[in-house]
Amino acid sequence: MLYSVKMRAAQGAAHEQGGRHISGAERLVLEKELGETVTAMLKRARSHERGPADFINIKVHKLTANNIAVIPALQVVPLVNPTEINIARGYAANLLASFGVSQLAINAAFSHLTNLATSMRGALLLYAHNGLIVPEIDQHRGVRVSNMDAQNSQTYTSWLREQAIDNIHAHEAIILASKVAACPQILAELCWSDDPNYTIGYVANKKTYHRINSLKEAGSDIGGRIFFITEQAAIAAIVDYLQEQPVLIGV
Ligand code: AMP
Repeated sequence: MLYSVKMRAAQGAAHEQGGRHISGAERLVLEKELGETVTAMLKRARSHERGPADFINIKVHKLTANNIAVIPALQVVPLVNPTEINIARGYAANLLASFGVSQLAINAAFSHLTNLATSMRGALLLYAHNGLIVPEIDQHRGVRVSNMDAQNSQTYTSWLREQAIDNIHAHEAIILASKVAACPQILAELCWSDDPNYTIGYVANKKTYHRINSLKEAGSDIGGRIFFITEQAAIAAIVDYLQEQPVLIGV
C-alpha cells in the first residue's frame, strides 16, 4: 500500500494568509519510507534557495484507490544551451509549433508567463488551437498535478545520472511532465522554474522532454507552467486525472 506525502512551505505566513511560497514537493512511498521522506521534505523546506520556510505543511495519507497507473517516462533530449533568452524562447516556440501548437497559443503562453507578477501555484490550461485560457480553471492558482512519483526511486535516479542529470528540479519535473503527457487531451507543455538559480526550462510533447537553458533570467523567482490542450477536451476529466489519478513513472 502506498502513502501520499505532500509538503508545501511558505515564508511570513501560511499560503492561505498570503505567505510567500517557498517550496512544494510530493511523493508516493511505502509505509517504511514515511519517516525518511517526511524528514527530507522538512529539510528541503528549511534550506531552500528561495529562503527558509517558516510555515510548513506536511500531509500524509494512505492511498485508498487501487487504480495506480504505471506510465513510461518521457524520453529526455539532451540539454540545449542558448546563451540568450530570446534564442531559448524561439527554440522552445519552434518545438511547440512542431508539436502542433498554434502560433496564437504559443504567443499567448509566452505572454502569460512573462507577465506574471508572482509565480502561480499550478499550471495554466490553454487551448492549443487558439491560445484561449480555459475559463473553468482559477487563473491565480492554476491546476496542481498531484499523486505521482517514480516507480522505483533508485532506478529512476540512476537512469537520470546516465543522462548527466542529477538535480532535484529535473528529477521532479520529468515525473510531472510524464504524467501530464499521458493525458490524452494534453498535447504539449511549457515550463520554467520559480527557483531563481535554475534557468533550465523545458517543453514536452507526448513522447519527448526537451531541456532548454536560459528560458528565464537568472535571479527571477517567477516560474510557471502551461499545458496545451485539444479543442474537444473535457476539462473536468483532465483536472481529475491531473490531480487525483495515482501514477508511477517507470524507466
Ligand atoms: P517548479 O518547477 O517547481 O519551480 O515550478 C515552476 C512553476 O510550475 C510553478 O511556479 C507553478 O506555476 C508550476 N507548478 C509547480 N508545481 C506544480 C504542480 N505540481 N502542478 C502544476 N504546476 C506546478
